[in-house]
Amino acid sequence: MQGKMNIKKLVKKDVVSLRAYSASEIPCRVKLDANESPCGFDEALKAAVLIRTNRYPDPEAKALKKLIARDFRVRPEQILQGNGSDELIYYLIATFGGPVLYPVPTFSMYGIIAQAFGEKKIAVPLDDAYDLDAAAMLTAVRRENPKLIFLASPNNPTGNCFASERILPLLEATRGIVVVDEAYQPFASDRGFLPLLKDYPNLVIMRTLSKIGLAALRLGFLIASPEIVEEVNKVRLPFNVNALSQAVAVAALQEKKKLKESIKEIVGERDRLLSAMAMIEGVTPFPSEANFILFRVFGPDRVYRALLKKGVLVRNLNDAAPGCLRVTVGSPRENTAFLSALEKIQQQQRQEQS
Ligand SMILES: *Cc1c(COP(=O)(O)O)cnc(C)c1O
Repeated sequence: MQGKMNIKKLVKKDVVSLRAYSASEIPCRVKLDANESPCGFDEALKAAVLIRTNRYPDPEAKALKKLIARDFRVRPEQILQGNGSDELIYYLIATFGGPVLYPVPTFSMYGIIAQAFGEKKIAVPLDDAYDLDAAAMLTAVRRENPKLIFLASPNNPTGNCFASERILPLLEATRGIVVVDEAYQPFASDRGFLPLLKDYPNLVIMRTLSKIGLAALRLGFLIASPEIVEEVNKVRLPFNVNALSQAVAVAALQEKKKLKESIKEIVGERDRLLSAMAMIEGVTPFPSEANFILFRVFGPDRVYRALLKKGVLVRNLNDAAPGCLRVTVGSPRENTAFLSALEKIQQQQRQEQS
């Protein structure tokens, strides 16, 4: 075959119409766009010297699973490791297929991966308080019989937890799997859904190390019944979590005190940011149980650009959540830089209008 070839004609229809997840690197002084932690675990990198580069990593990530099992009071057979929880979403959809049901706005990967597999997507809008629309979700469960329901709680980008009185009826009504994505659970005030695992054989909990200071490692895991883990494990690529990440994660997760303190500081800073943002005229922050804050402004595109001009990068969510931007809780200095930039921008706008 020579000459011009239309590659697009070869690609599956569902993939042609996808857009690649854009995680573009925009240069900035204060990076508050990706819900990363301001606190790293660079000491733990020393553990990497122990690995042998010529050997494959442990395909079962045994040391890591043992630690996680102890921390979460589950058995190692209840844990499956992923190259980030993104990969676990991929594996879950590869295992169970669709339809795939989720509320919107939410984490975009559920829809992107469902589409990549050519599975039917069912997106049900959240209610006005950004909680699950219980009636609409139940109707969708009964009508579409989804194989998978993805619920991020705390939800990204809205920051709130869904009411458990709205999640439980879904767990009971569905004949499929309910995945509660607890990427932000460490920052939340309630306990999350782990205690319910023993009561619901169709419940899967997802966790990640990405939001608590280890995003570079790409490490997520799911916790479920051994039966579910066994099935999903069949589609897992043999060495999906590399040796460097395994070794560094094991070291970092043993720094319990540092983990706890960094989370405490972020929660404190989040609450400081929330009250300060609420005082700025024209800014409406939404309550958050996560390490970020969604906020509404007039002219979000303009505010986004003005913040960037002052060196502060946030996430523009005007498409998914009209009028809204999302700021990650950073270090105290970064948060103060963000606040003073936002204050100035709003002040300037008021002057221009008067
Ligand atoms: C960031 C995020 C993830 C992705 O986690 P990785 O482990 O980095 O792949 C999963 N779910 C939600 C809701 C997130 O916001």
